[in-house]
Amino acid sequence: MAEINRAVKGTNDILPDKSYKYRFVEEKMLEIASLYGFREIRVPVFEHTEVFSRNVGEDTDVVQKEMYTFLDKGGRSVTLRPELTAGVVRSVIEHGVLAGALPAKVCYVGGCYRYEKPQAGRLREFHQFGVECFGADSPAADAEIIALAQQILFTLGITGISLKINSIGCEKCRKEYVNALKGYFEGRKQDLCDTCKERLGRNPLRILDCKSPICSKIAQEAPVITDYLCEDCQSHFNLVKENLAAQGILFEIDPHIVRGLDYYSKTVFEFVSGDIGAQSTVCGGGRYDGLVAKMGGRNTPALGFAIGIERLMMLLENMSVNLPEGKECILFVASIGEKAQIAAGKICRLMRDEGHEALCDLCGRGLKAQLKYADKTGAKFTVVLGEDELDSGKVIIKEMKSGDMHECNINAIPEKVTELSLKAALGSLEDSVLNNG
Ligand code: ATP
Ligand code: MG
Repeated sequence: MAEINRAVKGTNDILPDKSYKYRFVEEKMLEIASLYGFREIRVPVFEHTEVFSRNVGEDTDVVQKEMYTFLDKGGRSVTLRPELTAGVVRSVIEHGVLAGALPAKVCYVGGCYRYEKPQAGRLREFHQFGVECFGADSPAADAEIIALAQQILFTLGITGISLKINSIGCEKCRKEYVNALKGYFEGRKQDLCDTCKERLGRNPLRILDCKSPICSKIAQEAPVITDYLCEDCQSHFNLVKENLAAQGILFEIDPHIVRGLDYYSKTVFEFVSGDIGAQSTVCGGGRYDGLVAKMGGRNTPALGFAIGIERLMMLLENMSVNLPEGKECILFVASIGEKAQIAAGKICRLMRDEGHEALCDLCGRGLKAQLKYADKTGAKFTVVLGEDELDSGKVIIKEMKSGDMHECNINAIPEKVTELSLKAALGSLEDSVLNNG
């Protein structure tokens, strides 16, 4: 197939046989977030390039290697969002949200764009669900968003996932740590990758997040931030742990987590799975107390996380978690002849007005082919309209599963089908109660 007839490398089409799963998962995430007071925010897919380059960090992989940046026809440099936090912060500052009641809690679902090497769990267009909480500096807030992420993962049926937490301190305590890191990496400079050699002078913390195997091996032995935390950061971290323990949330302390974006401070965390290969981080987040002020807003503590939706779906698939398909076809109205086709259209319309999915022939097919199609759609009931039915005003509704036939007035089809499908639903409920009891 010619290349232009294929989706761009690293992008995915999600067809109806899978899209319902994405919708279910996304709605579930928004619903659980709302239990914690988070409300949906929608921000643009692209922003002025500086929104990301300055705030995600000039020395991060995301900014150095992965951004989709281009000049628009007006000559402005714009960038497809590689993540949503920076755009959300820009938005809440611009609209004065931070001058209102705090904490302000927002959540989002949206596409992200990173020019990465496509592989399982790593795409160029992927989707994140995330939350941001502004104006809360207490460790209780850190514990609350971690609890939310965990509740989402658990509710969706995900097991075998571990929570790793760390504190990367504040500007104050990080100074001394960065010096120690610099000293450590200086001694091993010749082995670092070229990007990290450059990072050494400017931002040695970034070397800890380098994906090159040699750099990450060297990073394993590096000094850890937890040995350098100031009193304030240490006590914040202790209280986060205490809050988590009080809620029965199990965690592991991993002093090597720094996260891939520059704006984090104090708490950082990841939910990691053993089941989806190398790209194992399903959710990452933490505090970013300095970002709002850096972006021109008033000094506001903030924190959040993002879940990679494709990675989450991989997990659900591996674990064979079944997700409900939602809507299903209740009635197929087959028709013989033009008059009956028109009547079938009208019956479908009445069904749909009642909120039921109903289908009829749109291709002028013969009866046999129509019923074959009805079977493929999984219709629960079918009805056949021909001249006789139109003349007599009576039809037979066939219940596909049992083969039972029910006579009814042509004008009463919607009511009769509603009644029959309620009965059928009750019947299968009773069956399952009997089987389980
Ligand atoms: P990684 O270490 O895997 O590169 P990251 O630190 O770049 O992740 P974040 O920027 O914190 O990730 O994004 C949050 C989540 O978004 C990740 O934990 C992951 O689930 C998902 N994610 C990030 N990049 C990609 C990608 N290229 N393809 C698919 N999902 C991704
Ligand atoms: Mg990354």
